[in-house]
Amino acid sequence: VAGIWVYADVRTGGTVDSSVLGLLTKARSLSDDVTAVALGTKVTPSVRLFADHGAATVLAGEDAAYDDCLAQPAAYVLARLADEHRPELVLFSASYDSRDVAGRLQAILGSTLVANVDDLVAPDRVRIRTALSVWPGRPGNLRGGVGGTKVVDVSLSGPLPRLVIARPNAFAARRVGGQARLVTIDVPIPEELKRARVVQRYEEEEAGPRLEEAKVVVAGGRGLRDRSNFHLLDELAAAIDNAAVGVTRPLVDEGWAPFSMQIGQTGKTVKPDVYLAIGISGATQHVVGMKEAKRIIAINKDKNAAIFQIADLGVVGDAMRVVPALISELQRNVELKARSNT
Ligand SMILES: Cc1cc2nc3c(=O)[nH]c(=O)nc-3n(C[C@H](O)[C@H](O)[C@H](O)COP(=O)(O)OP(=O)(O)OC[C@H]3O[C@@H](n4cnc5c(N)ncnc54)[C@H](O)[C@@H]3O)c2cc1C
Repeated sequence: VAGIWVYADVRTGGTVDSSVLGLLTKARSLSDDVTAVALGTKVTPSVRLFADHGAATVLAGEDAAYDDCLAQPAAYVLARLADEHRPELVLFSASYDSRDVAGRLQAILGSTLVANVDDLVAPDRVRIRTALSVWPGRPGNLRGGVGGTKVVDVSLSGPLPRLVIARPNAFAARRVGGQARLVTIDVPIPEELKRARVVQRYEEEEAGPRLEEAKVVVAGGRGLRDRSNFHLLDELAAAIDNAAVGVTRPLVDEGWAPFSMQIGQTGKTVKPDVYLAIGISGATQHVVGMKEAKRIIAINKDKNAAIFQIADLGVVGDAMRVVPALISELQRNVELKARSNT
């Protein structure tokens, strides 16, 4: 049995998400035998990055099919490699492509697959946290007391390798400064696996920090009332260092914001230092995507809103009045700071 593998999802342009590096860091804390499997067209430049985050071996396959086609070629090649090398565990990040590959690999190998994993306790044991419903009027909050978070430990059995999809940002990436052995993969990809092809790519313009990596998340919900108030989120984020804007699902459904901004069960998971929830009720499906923020500040006009049960600081008030006041206060501070520096 050969150690822990990480499916190192390299994007078409050659970039690597920090969640992949976090998986390598975590894998290395459990085993010295960590392999990054990188399939794409521009993977070799990332080999040092993988080594630096804990990979002892990098299996690198460069073929246009990995970028031009959907996940079939990658799943097929991974299955062939797993048959040959017999890893104990293969870890996947929660990116769309990684999840697609993981699902198809499971179908080929018939192995155990666990998704939404928050922690790896051992190579055969994972931890999953789920937020329990908030009960208004009940003592305690989601992060501690009554009605809090349910922690489920799952032991993995069945044929090797076992497959795990981690939640976004489950593990922090740390450099360990290692060296990796580079092994070039040369598994021919059957033509029939190249039929489902990517016909168009749409890159969303990204301004400011990425939502998953921002230190501060300014999130808005239906309490913003109207699309014309959305600019308040942008202005508030612009007034704070390293802040990004996120939304609840209704705002995506209404077409006010793209899906890439949605936070929650069916959107992104964020773990910022500060989460500002503006006009957000605190539905469980939203809360699971943000409950691990270090500090939660909620602005809501309903003092009984569930979000206040997990908030560290709550402002009961009309967002349309509180947020502009907050923006001008922050801008004033920035000006004062700039003045005192000159
Ligand atoms: C399978 C499934 C998956 C889902 N996945 C997600 C997900 O990934 N992410 C997600 O967010 N949701 C998800 N949902 C939807 C979720 O259940 C909630 O409906 C949603 O999170 C509510 O969004 P909201 O808080 O913006 O709206 P609401 O629940 O309508 O809350 C609006 C809040 O704004 C407050 N408010 C109103 N006016 C003002 C004002 N002027 N100033 C201040 N406050 C004001 C109100 O008091 C209220 O608390 C999912 C649902 C299902 C069934």
